[in-house]
Amino acid sequence: MAVDNEMPAQATSAQAASGIRPAAASPLQHGNGVVAPVKPRAIVLFGSPGSGKGTQSRYLVEWLHIPQISTGDMLRDHIRRGDDIGIAITDRMRAGSLVRDELVNELVRERIAQPDCDNGFILDGYPRTPAQAEEMLRLVASRGAEEVVIHLVVDYNVIISRMTGRRVCPKCGTLYNSVSRPPKIEGICDLDGTPLVVRDDDREEVVRRRLAEYERQTQPLIDFFRATSKRLIEVDASHDKPEEVFRRIRATLENVSGK
Ligand code: ADP
Repeated sequence: MAVDNEMPAQATSAQAASGIRPAAASPLQHGNGVVAPVKPRAIVLFGSPGSGKGTQSRYLVEWLHIPQISTGDMLRDHIRRGDDIGIAITDRMRAGSLVRDELVNELVRERIAQPDCDNGFILDGYPRTPAQAEEMLRLVASRGAEEVVIHLVVDYNVIISRMTGRRVCPKCGTLYNSVSRPPKIEGICDLDGTPLVVRDDDREEVVRRRLAEYERQTQPLIDFFRATSKRLIEVDASHDKPEEVFRRIRATLENVSGK
């Protein structure tokens, strides 16, 4: 079966024979002959709080020049605008409950129909339920794309120590970490000398509760993708630096399509 290698795919006769053709001019087509994959990718990123999902998303956006679509951001945007959708979802969002599947599915359907998703997109925070996962597969297929699910797997104890080691400056918002990014003077912000605090969200019992909730929601989805999708990448993100984790994600993505 054809392999859509991500990178330096010059059009070749072998590709023509295998059905791979270079995409028309696209944001991924640079002067150096780099050609976008034929099928746009819908990258679904799963990672618990503290797994480094935000950092990996940023690397992926930078590498692939595709938008990151966060359902949480889209929903918060409706609340900020105070429109009908925003009014309808405010209570559930405040309570930390999930918004109705039909509504979220519809928002994602409209969003991925936009032209900036032509070369692919990254889904962040979606799907959250098996019903959303099924709809996601349909939406992605109807968009002519293929899903690649990336699961950042992090050891439970590593997350606890990462997150409970976090400190924030209440004045300027700078984040520190006692292990990976300590301030020059313990407990004091490098930038303005303010004593650092632990965010409510990062207290150990809250972290444990958030992790349990994540696990409860996400495990059935990982099981679903393990059973239905050819393209589930599980990456150990416990120990290596973010750049190294990304290097492995990138290497796997360059090989995974078409398998
Ligand atoms: P967090 O990772 O802290 O939960 P998000 O920004 O992903 O933050 O989500 C914030 C809130 O938005 C969720 O608690 C939920 O109410 C709503 N939400 C986001 N994505 C979805 C989704 N796919 N399905 C249902 N509700 C969602």
